[in-house]
Amino acid sequence: MTTLTNPFEVARETLRLLAGRRIPPTPDNYLTLYHEIAGTKPTENAFPEAQLRSLTAALPNASSDQIRLARQLDEAVKTANWDDYKGYLVGFINNLAESQKLGWSDLIADLLRQWDAKHPGLTAARKRESLEHVLSSSGANPDILFSRMQGLLRSWGHGREQEAAASSEATPAEKTISTASTVALPDLLPELRELFAFTLETAIATQLLESPQLSGDAKALATDIRTAGTPAQLQEFLTRLKRFAFKLELLAEDQTELRQSLLGLLRLLVGNITELVLDDHWLHGQIEVVREIIDKPLSQRTLDDAQRRLKEVLFKQSQLKASLFEAKEAIKQMLAGFVDHLADFAEATSDYHDKIEICAGKISSANNISDLESVLGEVMRETRTIQINAQRSRDELRSTQAKVQESEARIRELEQELEATSDLVRHDQLTGVLNRRGLEEIFDKEVARAVRHDTLLCVALLDIDNFKKLNDSMGHDVGDEALIHLASVCRETLRPQDTVARYGGEEFIILLPETPLQDATVALTRLQRELTKKFFLHANEKILITFSAGVTQMLPGDDRATAIKRADGAMYQAKQTGKNRVVAVD
Ligand code: GH3
Ligand code: MG
Ligand code: MG
Repeated sequence: MTTLTNPFEVARETLRLLAGRRIPPTPDNYLTLYHEIAGTKPTENAFPEAQLRSLTAALPNASSDQIRLARQLDEAVKTANWDDYKGYLVGFINNLAESQKLGWSDLIADLLRQWDAKHPGLTAARKRESLEHVLSSSGANPDILFSRMQGLLRSWGHGREQEAAASSEATPAEKTISTASTVALPDLLPELRELFAFTLETAIATQLLESPQLSGDAKALATDIRTAGTPAQLQEFLTRLKRFAFKLELLAEDQTELRQSLLGLLRLLVGNITELVLDDHWLHGQIEVVREIIDKPLSQRTLDDAQRRLKEVLFKQSQLKASLFEAKEAIKQMLAGFVDHLADFAEATSDYHDKIEICAGKISSANNISDLESVLGEVMRETRTIQINAQRSRDELRSTQAKVQESEARIRELEQELEATSDLVRHDQLTGVLNRRGLEEIFDKEVARAVRHDTLLCVALLDIDNFKKLNDSMGHDVGDEALIHLASVCRETLRPQDTVARYGGEEFIILLPETPLQDATVALTRLQRELTKKFFLHANEKILITFSAGVTQMLPGDDRATAIKRADGAMYQAKQTGKNRVVAVD
């Protein structure tokens, strides 16, 4: 039989023979036949996956290097790549031999650790002295240096162990931790060194983009700690690290000062906004937001939230201001036109005076009646012209006046709208009811009013039942729609003087002025009933929203926080006793 070499032909022939000889088409049978046709040996190229896998599993994997090797070998087995497998294994063993031969890295790591550790009766100066002695006495012989340094470190460590043994106060747990860390430390050191370099290079250097010099220093230090191999290099590294830390500290101080100055500037601006702009009516909402932010510790979330709301207000206000500008421009143009007319009129009048003067001269020099008649005729004509001119100017004045009044009304309207937009920062963007900030303002006003008029004020806190389930089953958007629905049913059902505010995610607060507790409870129960009638529709599906509420009445000595806390307690009780109910608390 001629041997086929093209794999396609071999495969085709294999299948043909399997069928022809009526051999069951199992993978083994296929393989045997395939090799028979191709003239190859079955075991020649097979990758001993199972065996290698079990070998990998049997290797120790305690240190990070060993774990890394196990991962590499696994990968090689997965891709059936014998070359990789061999390469990783050989590389690992070579490294191991190399590190055992030298032992330097462990020794230096040990030195670093012991250098920074506290030893009984050993000051830093004393340590430096003995190390210098070892260095100078070992000459250029690395073997002697190695063994002397080992001896030195052993003696330092020994003193420490003795102290640990003498300390009877250490708990068993502490002892376990300290032994465990001593054992694991040499293994951890290369990793620590790499982590340190990484921190310097990535975390610290990128924080210092605005100080290129320091950023460069951090990167250089990272390279140093990776490559420092001798005690002298490590010593050099430590000195530079200390210098770097000092510079970093100075920079941090500078930045804190800078931030304080910026905040101070902002406070100054916000505090004196009335002096800086002619009309700050339409700015008060935004200013309030900024004031609140700078009075508290800065947080990214409050900044983002404020930015989002300010942007919305700014967009609306920029549109309104454009209209306002147009209205004011129109008034200016009208006035300019009127002034032009006035100038024409003044010119005509002075012309009239000149002519009348000439006529007066003619009259005084007139010799007969007919002369006088023609002069009088001239006077009459001029007077009539001036009269018509005056009338026209008066009419124009009136119409301009009306137009100006109209424009002024529009300007007032626009200005009011601007002011109202500023209030948007007090409203919840989703539901349109007051937000927490808006509530705080109204709350204080309502409390003051109740005290002034000696009336009752009730506070209710309601929380939607099983809202998380609704979100989870129908989606967050439907949850949002449900919140909008609840807010609008509240607005429709409650009295105009009642305040509805979104207090948190699915929690609302309702203020009911001039209402005794009993009536407030009834109002809330009516709201519950109303919600079952005006159910919320989503994709033609009726979704029933219920809530649990706590109601309380403001008492003497109460403030916003104490009243809300009491209402919250009552709401919690409503949840505990089965939800979808209103609990009143005295
Ligand atoms: P309980 O009856 O005990 O009040 O249970 P609950 O599921 O209503 O309460 P829980 O506090 O466990 O969950 C409140 C949920 O409200 C969790 C949160 O995802 C959701 N939520 C908060 N704010 C919003 C929002 O603006 N939109 C939407 N769709 N969901 C929100
Ligand atoms: Mg809740
Ligand atoms: Mg809830």
